[in-house]
Amino acid sequence: MTTASASLAALDDFRPDSPNRPAARWYFIYVALKEAILTHAIEPGTKLPEDELGEIYSSSRTLVRSALQALAHDRLVTLELNRGAFVAKPTRLEAREIFEARAIIEPTVAALAAQAATPADIERLRRHLEEEHVALHEGRNGEAVDLSGKFHVAIAEIAHQTVLTEFVRSLCSRSSLIVALYWRRRDAMCESHAHHALVDAIAANSPQDAREIMSSHLVDLLSGLDLSDRPPEPKKLTDILRRPA
Ligand SMILES: [Zn+2]
Repeated sequence: MTTASASLAALDDFRPDSPNRPAARWYFIYVALKEAILTHAIEPGTKLPEDELGEIYSSSRTLVRSALQALAHDRLVTLELNRGAFVAKPTRLEAREIFEARAIIEPTVAALAAQAATPADIERLRRHLEEEHVALHEGRNGEAVDLSGKFHVAIAEIAHQTVLTEFVRSLCSRSSLIVALYWRRRDAMCESHAHHALVDAIAANSPQDAREIMSSHLVDLLSGLDLSDRPPEPKKLTDILRRPA
């Protein structure tokens, strides 16, 4: 097991509903920081000093470090050698590339999920949609962004493709902060009607429908991001150099 997947498994044990849950102070710090980052309360690039966070949360640096490592695993924080932790700062170019990669991978993953899904899987997806809905309506926007990413990961898990699931997990983690930073529409980031339509197609075991709905959902997501502030197109020589009069 890699360090990343080991820490992820450990993370699952600390979820509030886990039967294995110990008194997890670091998980509380992790959740609080995650919400602050995903709601843009802390600006990208902000330094996150362990001692200051320790004071704020009345915790040891060891606990703060565990929380920061879990956030780094989620790609919300970058850990720099000898400099410490910073809120991640995805660029517009990175944002575009991540959504382009998702558009290549996820429609196929959705089609595979539609072939493999059991009634229990559908039940799980519907419960997930309900949680997303509640988070949004209770104004927990950071959590709603996080949950809508995890919905995509859940679809990949249903497809029983471990390698593709890891790709989707990584791309969705990186998408969360991008959506938080660059989303320009007022409506919910993963409009629930698209997610409901996906669950319906997967429940009906319709790979083609699942593929098409996922594909248009990702195009729609990309179009909702304000990635316009890109470097200007390189000019053509004919535009720069004047012809002799
Ligand atoms: Zn979505």
